[in-house]
Parts: sequence; structure tokens; C-alpha cells
Amino acid sequence: MSHTLTIALSKGRIYKETLPLLAHAGIVPKDDPETSRKLILDTNHDDVKLVIIRASDVPTYVEYGAADLGVAGKDVLMEHGGEGLYEPLDLKIARCKLMVAGPVAGGEPVGRMKIATKFVNSTRRYYASLGQQVEIIKLYGSMELAPLVGLADRIVDLVDTGNTLRANGLEPMEHIAEISSRLVVNKASMKMKHQRMRAFIDQIAEAVEKR
Ligand code: AMP
Repeated sequence: MSHTLTIALSKGRIYKETLPLLAHAGIVPKDDPETSRKLILDTNHDDVKLVIIRASDVPTYVEYGAADLGVAGKDVLMEHGGEGLYEPLDLKIARCKLMVAGPVAGGEPVGRMKIATKFVNSTRRYYASLGQQVEIIKLYGSMELAPLVGLADRIVDLVDTGNTLRANGLEPMEHIAEISSRLVVNKASMKMKHQRMRAFIDQIAEAVEKR
């Protein structure tokens, strides 16, 4: 049985904000994913590897055991759904809010409201919880454009400072969820590599507390 720990991370903000937490657990990568094209990064421990993947693929890698652990935004986990993962720790990094937004002083649309978003599942659940019938239009990015060109009445997107909304004449309207990055772990790994995984999770938890 392999004793390697494989940790799935996405480039950018999550990687940058996870590095100090890994350092607290004594783990330092040998390459920088922003400059290296390697997808598997060695660390100062021969038995700890990092795999660098798209944020939305992290739950899949961890669920199938291709990675023992991973770091994923709550937004990604809410979209992924499923029972395949443990989510033992809120890392309290990359914080923002999942919100409904629309044109400033846009008023109520007539007829069934059209919502543009890449968070289709979370949006469907949110409006179902309100008992409101809406039409959801799936986009892959630049959601802010949709109300400006008449594609949708509202958007559901992540909001941090609100600058992106403001720059496009939009305003936040309804709060759906608080978002932050979470540590997720594969259920089988948690059983089979229990001591190793537990020690790692405890060290990361300590780093989060001390921050
Ligand atoms: P802001 O202009 O600061 O409100 O940031 C909003 C933009 O940044 C939107 O396009 C979001 O999709 C993105 N964003 C903000 N916070 C996060 C986060 N924690 N994770 C991923 N994307 C984010």
C-alpha cells in the first residue's frame, strides 16, 4: 500500500493562500506552478506530492482517490454535491459570498426571471428553497455581461469587494452563501492512511488557528 500523500490544489489564489498552511505542516513544494508547467510537484518530503488541477476538478480527484486530500472552494463543493468526500476543515481562505445580483434600480422583471450563472446547481437549490420558478442560463464566465445585453435579469456569482458588480452597473441583491476554501479528504484514504492523514489535518488546523 502506498504511503504517499497526494494533495490536489488549483493555481492562483487558493495555491498562494494554502502555501503558508502547508509550510506550517513542514511541507514546501520544490516548484512554483505559476512558472513551472509540471502538473505533479515534488515537495521537500519524498512521500508528499502536489497535483495542480482546475479548481472545479479538485472534488473529483479526491472523490475517486486520485488525490488523498485537496483544497476546494465551498462554491465548487456546493456545485459538485455528492457523498464521496469528507470536509473536515474550513481553511478560512479565499473568502467571499455567493450572491444574486442585478442592474442598479432595475426593478422586478415581468414573467419568469432569467438568471445567468455558472453555479447552476446552487442557483436551482436556492430558488427551489424560495419556491420561486426561474429560468437558469448556464454560462462559463463573465456573468456580469448577461444583464447588460439582455441575456438575463439577474446573475448568481461570487462577490468579494463588489467592485466587479459596480463597474458593470450591477448591485448585490440576495445573499446565498458564505464561501471559503475547505480541506477535503478521500474517505478510503482516511481509513487506510489514518495516522498520517490525521496528523496532517491537525497540523493544518493548527496553522488556521494561528493565522
Ligand atoms: P470583487 O470585484 O472583489 O467583488 O470580485 C468579484 C470577482 O472575483 C468575480 O468575478 C468572482 O467570480 C471573483 N471572485 C471573488 N472572490 C473569489 C473567490 N474567493 N474565489 C474565486 N473567485 C472569486
